Amino acid sequence: MSERFFPALLIALLGLFSGSFINICIHRIPSGKPLLTPLPQCPSCRTRLMPIDLIPIASYIILRGNCHYCGASISPRYPFIEFLTALLFLLVYFKIGAGTVLIKYILVTALLLLVTFIDLDYYIIPNSLVLAGLIAGAIFLPLTREHTLISALSGIIFTAGFLLLLNIVSRGGMGMGDVKYGAFIGIILGWPLSLLAVFLACLTAGLTGAILLITRCKRGKDPIPFGPFLSMGTFISFMWGENIKKLYIYLLSGL
Ligand SMILES: [Zn+2]
Repeated sequence: MSERFFPALLIALLGLFSGSFINICIHRIPSGKPLLTPLPQCPSCRTRLMPIDLIPIASYIILRGNCHYCGASISPRYPFIEFLTALLFLLVYFKIGAGTVLIKYILVTALLLLVTFIDLDYYIIPNSLVLAGLIAGAIFLPLTREHTLISALSGIIFTAGFLLLLNIVSRGGMGMGDVKYGAFIGIILGWPLSLLAVFLACLTAGLTGAILLITRCKRGKDPIPFGPFLSMGTFISFMWGENIKKLYIYLLSGL
């Protein structure tokens, strides 16, 4: 455990700063703005923030959740995303350990978070993100050798094909962004894990939709973005998919 302490500390720091960058990307990718410069502004007084105002979590705590310049309150979502990114990166590190597979899943986790929050805010999944994910998936396929090319292609055909079917049946209720995102999930997870990801996404989206309707938070025709559920299903599948598969087989054998 102790030999993992310093790598884990580095991963946590990487997660915090990645989370801070993800916060910037969530606002800039949909509008096509440059990602690295300039530094972000306060949404209230438009003052350009300094690096000291952008230290993940610490700046928020020191400034007590208020803008350094105008005192307007800052959304707690910013430190939450920084914390969540660090937590997920650490979970991935402790599950996978060091190596090429870790690099792949750290990048995948960052992309899953980006898609989740962009889809929640803007109801879109940007093509640029999906394309970057597909290229990364193709590069890592021979490097990590987690699954074969046939498995990746089967995953793409099943996931994108199934979501396309839902797109047609729902007459566009399921967006084409989700269909393209499905191709990314297919290449990352391969077959059959991509099946589990889609199953978990449908299950959690169905339950969430039902709860939102019962509690009257949403009406029948209000859209619910599907990207966050696909992202969650993908994360659970690459982290614990093999365990879920074993449990499923064990339960079946007991019947
Ligand atoms: Zn301000």
